[in-house]
Amino acid sequence: MPIPNTLAELEADIARDLELVAHPRAPWLEAKQCEGQPVLDVLIIGAGQGAMALAFALRRDKVRNILCIDRAEYGQEGPWVTYARMPTLRSWKDQTGPDLYIPALTYQAWHEAQWGAADFTALRWIPKENWNDYLLWFRRVAGIPVRNGVEAGAIEPARTDDGLPCLRVPTSIGPLLARKVVLATGQEGIGHWWMPEFLQRLPASLRAHSADAIDFAALRGRRVAVLGAGASAFDNAAVALEAGAAEVHLFCRRAEPMIIQPYRWLTFAGFLRHLHEMPDDWRWRFMSYVLGLREGFPADTYARVNRFPNFHLHVGRPWTGAREAAGAAVVETPRGDFAADFLIAGTGTRMDAHAVPALAHCAGNIALWQDRFTPPAAEENERLGRYPYLSPEGAFLERSPGETPWISDIHLFGIGASMSFGPSGASINAMSIAAPRAAAGITKGLFSADLPRLYAELRAYALPQVELDAARLVTN
Ligand SMILES: Cc1cc2nc3c(=O)[nH]c(=O)nc-3n(C[C@H](O)[C@H](O)[C@H](O)COP(=O)(O)OP(=O)(O)OC[C@H]3O[C@@H](n4cnc5c(N)ncnc54)[C@H](O)[C@@H]3O)c2cc1C
Repeated sequence: MPIPNTLAELEADIARDLELVAHPRAPWLEAKQCEGQPVLDVLIIGAGQGAMALAFALRRDKVRNILCIDRAEYGQEGPWVTYARMPTLRSWKDQTGPDLYIPALTYQAWHEAQWGAADFTALRWIPKENWNDYLLWFRRVAGIPVRNGVEAGAIEPARTDDGLPCLRVPTSIGPLLARKVVLATGQEGIGHWWMPEFLQRLPASLRAHSADAIDFAALRGRRVAVLGAGASAFDNAAVALEAGAAEVHLFCRRAEPMIIQPYRWLTFAGFLRHLHEMPDDWRWRFMSYVLGLREGFPADTYARVNRFPNFHLHVGRPWTGAREAAGAAVVETPRGDFAADFLIAGTGTRMDAHAVPALAHCAGNIALWQDRFTPPAAEENERLGRYPYLSPEGAFLERSPGETPWISDIHLFGIGASMSFGPSGASINAMSIAAPRAAAGITKGLFSADLPRLYAELRAYALPQVELDAARLVTN
């Protein structure tokens, strides 16, 4: 088949493809109101790649009264052009993503339509800016409605005018109402970026988290120390070196840094599709091992720092404390103090629903893994016990049943779902399988709440398929 030579040609193919696979075509949801205000079927908080995949899956199921909101401005959603400090994605270029298996919607199709098939073949990794542009294009051609610059506040229960449960979400553009709300809020989605308290206590001029906006130019000629040996820690070290830092010292707690990427191992259909259906002890065993290893850094990332003679990797040297001394930061380690002009914590995130404004009215009643499952002593992990224990539909469950029953209409699609569902459906390797599954969790709730109406519609359904020939009917 000839490859489209332009995006316009590709978009024509997409329109045809989507029409060819539009079955089942019938709309099935009814517009609702709450005190005179329209109610969305689904409000997705976040408009990163996870939200795009999920919104597309919902649209294909004819759930079209949806909206994504994102506090970021247009084009700034997700990590790609803000705090992701690597030149390319870490996912392989041939993984399908939000396209949900529609060939013309894949990254490869988008790339080839602009730069040709040979260019895609020659590409090693997808430049992150290209990925960002692709996501924006995807959102347009897939018809996903997004409002940027809109922040979500504390979700609370409400009712539609005909008595169905719905949720009210205060936002910077006024309250939004929806029957289902999805948190697709990314890495810090149901918690916060985390660094040890002793770093937090230092003045901000001496330390930052790897996800913060950092003025790397100001680090020229300075001594920088980075805590953590995950991919983002290395990326930040690399940018500091490239910006002309005098020395960059990266400190790894382990005797040997993690160079295995378990997400590569688990990227197969059985795991991605079925882990969530397995007993808790197996879910815990697999995911605590995977998340316990943390993110191994890729070869290109290592090469990027290693070409600098002023890069130093300290292994088996955790930080146990820190203080300010004579305008510098001094970190304490089992092998003695270390002084630097600036510290960067590549220490990831921590699950903590209390830190999420959208969950202010229910954070204390969200069931966590630690509430539902006690791992064997050898597999204990306090950090992972704080992940939410989600329903099979991907929604929050109550710790104390009956206190906040409305949280069953708040779904989570992102890294916080990892302990319950395996690799976050919002990462590229998992989304082709995870997004339709998450959409099905949402449609199940909508369908179930609509049963009385749908049954009444079935009983009222009176569209004849044929006109009977009265003359041929035998009535005696
Ligand atoms: C440095 C780095 C590199 C990575 N590389 C890869 C990779 O190569 N491949 C891969 O699959 N994954 C990678 N990841 C993981 C990556 O973050 C996720 O896969 C992807 O961004 C997740 O998509 P998401 O939609 O869940 O979250 P995000 O893309 O982070 O999007 C979440 C959105 O929610 C918005 N938001 C948050 N809170 C609110 C609120 N209260 N109101 C309104 N909007 C809100 C944010 O502004 C953001 O735009 C990387 C992560 C990092 C940090």
